[in-house]
Amino acid sequence: MSTIQVDNPATGEIVGSVPVLGSEQLSVMAARARAAQPGWLELGFKGRGAIMSRAQKWMLDNAERVIQTVISETGKTYEDAQLTDLGYAVMALGFWAKEAPKYLSDERVPSWNNPAVVGRKLIVRYAPHGLVGVIGPWNFPIVNGFGDCIPAMMAGNVVILKPSEVTPLSSLLMLEMLSECGLPADVMQVATGDGSTGAALIAESDCVMFTGSTRTGRAVMKAAAEKLIPCYLELGGKDPMLVCADADIGRAANAAAYWSMNNAGQVCISVERVYVEAPVYDQFVQLVTANIESLRQGAPDGAGSVDVGAVIFPPQLEIVDAHVKDAVAKGARVLTGGHSKVDGGRFYEPTVVVDVDHTMDLMREETFGPVVPIMKIADIEQGVRLANDSPYGLQASVWTKDTAHGEAIARRLEAGAVCVNDVQVNYQALNLPMGGWKSSGIGSRHGAGGIRKYCKTQSLLITSFGFKREIFMFPYARGRTMLLQRFYKFFYGRGKRG
Ligand code: NAD
Repeated sequence: MSTIQVDNPATGEIVGSVPVLGSEQLSVMAARARAAQPGWLELGFKGRGAIMSRAQKWMLDNAERVIQTVISETGKTYEDAQLTDLGYAVMALGFWAKEAPKYLSDERVPSWNNPAVVGRKLIVRYAPHGLVGVIGPWNFPIVNGFGDCIPAMMAGNVVILKPSEVTPLSSLLMLEMLSECGLPADVMQVATGDGSTGAALIAESDCVMFTGSTRTGRAVMKAAAEKLIPCYLELGGKDPMLVCADADIGRAANAAAYWSMNNAGQVCISVERVYVEAPVYDQFVQLVTANIESLRQGAPDGAGSVDVGAVIFPPQLEIVDAHVKDAVAKGARVLTGGHSKVDGGRFYEPTVVVDVDHTMDLMREETFGPVVPIMKIADIEQGVRLANDSPYGLQASVWTKDTAHGEAIARRLEAGAVCVNDVQVNYQALNLPMGGWKSSGIGSRHGAGGIRKYCKTQSLLITSFGFKREIFMFPYARGRTMLLQRFYKFFYGRGKRG
């Protein structure tokens, strides 16, 4: 069996190695998972939730270990690992433990408004798919992987998690955590490996939850279509930020700097392009540039040591560099940054680019690095047009002191999530759906849909009254035409009489 070495992108140090599992191992794991599923379902929401709540406490008690594990394989800053990877999981464990019963308990729906079923008991029931295959990317090794396992398990499924080959260690720690917190064996398993392991996992799954690039997302959906299983995709983005002339420019500039540089820009909902109305453009650019010039970058050495971390995935460094070079070749100007820094670790300087337009890859394709391109626009109409001129539709933000106007603009943007005067914090609102439009995905995480997607619905119709014959049975069925017409008139015709 081949193995993958895991390195620390900020130092180049090898921090671990994991096996690449293949189809044979995956079928054994799937069989074990399926055997564990009925017992797990039997535990009920309360029993499953108790384990998640214990895990929430475990995470808080072991916060330092979790943060250091994430940093060791991503080279991100202490704050990035703490806020997102640790913070999200702590929140999500508690949220789904508490809210799963609300979203998944049986629902009674009315029967009185339909003559065909009046008097019957109508129930919607949510039944788990069985084995959910969760496949994750490398930028948030806990959030976009383990984070999706939590609602899947709370719904009564068993899961096999295939973390990115670049960052598998955090997922193994999550498995260790759940085992210590009493998770029955095989309810969650981690299948380390590369794309071939992911493909083998889909072949064994009853449902797929995938987070990663749009390109791989297409292959995943094809494989799921062959098996005819549900498949949910959280893919790439090219999130626009629209700054109106009446915005609080200080707040907007700070937000542009922070939310384009957090996690070194390796965030699907990062600020990837900014459009600023002409009257405030110069001031905005000056504030953002000053902010970004002051950032400290390097290998993290504890809390508060650096502001911008490493580039996690080696080829990403080339993509970021190519986007900046393409923009410069087409007339853009780099105001700060603009170079790779490879000295043991892999870094790309925090970069601001101006004089950009939509002929440049930097404004059209996902850059996924610490680079913020800023474009001057004549008015917000042009901004809306340019924001929507993208194959992606993950997230966007609008900046204005007139929040009603901001909301009206937000509703015109082709994106699954839009913030007015904020960025990314919507991801922390676990009762708010989060998912992409267009090439950014299918389905959503969080909210009711974020857990119901891990279930099949079953409709139950229960008739408890004892008429031996009625209009849906012989002999009345033969002559029911007039009777039915009267029924329909009674039920549906009343509003139209007068
Ligand atoms: P990727 O598509 O290269 O890989 C993602 C995962 O898919 C990895 O675990 C990989 O091993 C696996 N994989 C590769 N080929 C496969 C196949 N044929 N079948 C099954 N699995 C396969 O993505 P990445 O480079 O790891 O992650 C970065 C991308 O993820 C960016 O585009 C980013 O925007 C996106 N992302 C999206 C969200 C979101 O919520 N929308 C969140 C985080 C990251």
